This record gives sequence, structure tokens and C-alpha cells, in this order.
Amino acid sequence: MGAGEIRGGVYRCVGGGRMNSMYARVGGSPIVIVGGGIAGGNAAVTLREEGYRGRIAIISREPGVPFGRPPLSKTYLRSEEDLEDWYVRPAGWYEEHDVERLGESSVVAVDAVAHTVVLGSGRELAYQKVLIATGGRTRRLQLPGAGLPGIHYLRTVADCDAIKREAVADRRAVVVGMGFIGCEVAASLTQLGVRVTAIFPGRVPLEKVLGEKIGAVIGAIHRANGVELLAGDQVAAFEGTERLEAIRTASGDRVPCDFAIGGIGIDPDVPAVAPSIEQANGVLVDELCRTSAADVYAAGDVANHLHPVFGRVRVEHFNNAEKQGAAAARSMLGSVTSYGYIHSFWSDQYEHKLEYVGHAAKWDEFVVRGSLGEGRLIGFYLLKGLVQAAAGLDRGGDPELDRDSEMAACARLVAVRARPARDLLTDEKVDLWSLGNDALAWPSAAGSIRGGLCETLLEKVKADCGAE
Ligand SMILES: Cc1cc2nc3c(=O)[nH]c(=O)nc-3n(C[C@H](O)[C@H](O)[C@H](O)COP(=O)(O)OP(=O)(O)OC[C@H]3O[C@@H](n4cnc5c(N)ncnc54)[C@H](O)[C@@H]3O)c2cc1C
Repeated sequence: MGAGEIRGGVYRCVGGGRMNSMYARVGGSPIVIVGGGIAGGNAAVTLREEGYRGRIAIISREPGVPFGRPPLSKTYLRSEEDLEDWYVRPAGWYEEHDVERLGESSVVAVDAVAHTVVLGSGRELAYQKVLIATGGRTRRLQLPGAGLPGIHYLRTVADCDAIKREAVADRRAVVVGMGFIGCEVAASLTQLGVRVTAIFPGRVPLEKVLGEKIGAVIGAIHRANGVELLAGDQVAAFEGTERLEAIRTASGDRVPCDFAIGGIGIDPDVPAVAPSIEQANGVLVDELCRTSAADVYAAGDVANHLHPVFGRVRVEHFNNAEKQGAAAARSMLGSVTSYGYIHSFWSDQYEHKLEYVGHAAKWDEFVVRGSLGEGRLIGFYLLKGLVQAAAGLDRGGDPELDRDSEMAACARLVAVRARPARDLLTDEKVDLWSLGNDALAWPSAAGSIRGGLCETLLEKVKADCGAE
């Protein structure tokens, strides 16, 4: 962890000559990043890559270097991969680039007037600008028996390691909730030989995000792999004497089990800020990642941001945390480019891959290209004819990695606010890249798109328009 300490309210480098000549510090207060996840880590990297030579301090409750959580429900949980490949930068990068890290430290308060953060220890650290990149906290089931050993939640490496210790072949697990974490954990545990029962309130897994049709395909995949799905039910109580032995459901079932994992979502983890900053389902930020307080920014899962295509939205995606952390850093350095990444995420369950682009909180039409029956399709989520989002199940490629893929074409349709005819969306002979050109007249669509996938889209948009 960073070789630093706080004395008299000022964070100092200890050990003398650690200061890297390449990044010799400009004096003054640091840019403070609260939260060393994907958003916080990428903010620090971007500050250095953009040439910022002043002090940077990352304060994070978790030990370790900033990393991505996706393997915690997949390859790391199954002991197929360690986490190094998911580090934002290798462990040595931070010291080499003179980024101070205060691990296992919590910021309990931000004083937006005095420009200080207060740590759990009571010490204060002055900042010139601060980024809140604190992610989310797992929701906990508040039910009888909820304190019994054997009940787990999954957000951190420590959470995952505890689940790994339980996940022995032939033991019985109950997964509570079949959102993405529930589905991925159910799949990984099953792959480890654990006998899994999933209890969830909807009709099918992932119903809220993907709708009933793709959810039914996902449900069939889980059943085919041996997961018992108890749909339309919920946990009423945890039972056991020394530790968890069974779950009692609201419908009266008793499900014996050796351990359980709750996957019922997260709440934004917002430190106290005084005077208070505007919040509603997370920290409200504008298109430059600015909160309502001067010099206070937010990014990642904690930030409810103003998006040029989706309006106000808070998402819980790796790709957003990565790109918004970077965007916030650029804003702190004076950029006035709006953050307009067309959201995307993925999920891996068994050998199946789901890719999703856009954001559809609601839709009035669901259009399929491909086959629900064969479980290989792209589903389009339309609202009043407008393509809000698309999901590719075992089809369409990775929109971030394959710039010519069908899913990248779908992201472009979302970005340009396309309203293609339904029969063109379903017709396999129609190239998805050929659709939506009429919507290109919408001038700010291309102009608001930046970064990663969006750069790809911009190039495509320009090519489609015949522009330089
Ligand atoms: C198991 C799992 C699997 C996932 N898989 C996928 C996937 O396949 N695809 C996908 O798109 N997304 C996935 N996600 C979501 C993705 O990981 C998150 O969107 C991403 O981690 C958000 O990054 P963040 O930096 O905003 O927050 P976080 O990663 O939560 O980081 C926030 C950090 O801030 C720290 N912190 C909080 N409060 C304070 C405080 N007051 N003081 C100091 N530090 C604080 C926390 O301890 C944490 O280290 C997954 C998430 C989980 C948990």
C-alpha cells in the first residue's frame, strides 16, 4: 500500500526519496479520488496520461490495487484465473507514477467548503478537487436468521474468497435473486459441482433488464445445467442453529442448504458531503461528471449522470465505470467534452455470452433477429419505435472489441436514435450498419459521442456520411 501517512491534516510522502522525478510533484493539495475501483483507478491513470503533474491520492476502503470485479462471479470464483489481468494498472504503476494510495481507509465526510476529506481515523486531508468513485454496497436481506453463518453477498475479493471456501462439489447452495450476480454465481457454482436452487420473485431470470423472452431462454439454460429455479417466490426466513441449514420461502417451501448467496442488488455508497450535494438514486452529476458542489465530481456505479441520449441514468457496468472515471478526470483538468458513452455490458453464464448496448428502462416492443428457440439472437428494445437498447445472446460479437460487429452496429442505432422499420431489424439479409442513416440528420448524436465504443461509432458515422 502507498508509503504515506497523514500528519497534521496534510498527507506526506514518507521514506524520503520516493518522489519520482518524472512526476515531480507540483505543490499544493492533491486531487483526491475516493474509491479505488475501476472508476477511481481509471481516473488516476487518465490524470497522469493527460499530463497532470500535481499530486494524486486514492483513498479506498478495500485493500489492494484498483481492479475490475467481473471475474469475482466467474473465472476467479471458479479458481480459473487470478485477478492480475483485471488490475487497472500493475501494482507497481502507482508508485512509478507517484500516485499515493491509502488503502483500507474510508472517507467518512467531504467538506466541500473547506475542501477537505475526513478519514475514518478522524484525520483530514485537503484536496483541490475530489472524485467520489465509491461504487455501491450490497443490499442485505433483513429477515429472521439473516445473521446466521453461511449467508453471503458478493462485491469484494474477501466476499468471493468466503464463497469459494463454501463451494465444494455436492454441497447445496441457494442463490437469492436472479439478476446478473445471481445468474452468474448460480452458473459458476453449478460448474463447480455445487447443487444450486435459485429463488427469485419474477417469472424468469433477468426479467427486469432483459424482458420475459430472453429471460425465459436464460432460465432454460440454467435448468438444463441442473439449477432448480423457484420463480415467483422469495425468502421469508433463514433457518439453522449453529449456521444456515435451510431457507423458508414466502410460499411455505423449506429448501435445505449448506450456504446461500444473496444477489439482490446494490445501493450507491455515498460518503457524507457537507453542505449536502444533490442526490437521487446516487450522486447527481451533469454531463461533465460535476456534482452540485464546486470541485466535487462523481463517476462509476455511484453516479447518476446526465446522458445526452438516455437522459438521467445510473448504471452498474464495468465499461461505464472505466470510461466515466476517465471522463471525470478529463473534466477535472478542464475538458468541456460531455460524457456520452453509449452504455454497454456483458455477462458470461456457462458457455453462453450476453452482450448488451444502450439502456432501456422500459420498452413497448421487443423485436428479435435470429432465434429465441435456438437461443442465438439479437433482441431490440424499442420505445415508440426508437431503438433504446439491444441484447445479443450468443450472437453479435463484443461491441467494444469488434468494431464491425452486429452489436457495435446496434450501439450505433442507439446513438443516432434510429427508428428502423421492424421488418428491417428482423430481416437477416439487411445489414444492421445500413439502418438508421435517416436519423443521422440529428446533429448532436455524433457530436456527443466520445470514447471507446463511441469513437468507433463516430468513425462509422462519419464514413456513412462520407465525411472526412
Ligand atoms: C461480482 C461482480 C461481477 C460483475 N460482473 C460484471 C460484468 O460481467 N460486466 C459488467 O459490465 N459489470 C460487471 N460488474 C459490475 C462492475 O464491476 C461495476 O459496475 C464496477 O465495479 C463499478 O466500479 P466503481 O469503480 O464505480 O465501483 P467499485 O468497483 O464498487 O469501487 C468502489 C470502491 O470504493 C470504495 N469505497 C466505498 N466507499 C468508500 C469510502 N467512503 N471511502 C473510501 N473508499 C470507499 C469501495 O470499497 C470500493 O473499493 C460486476 C460486479 C460484481 C460485484
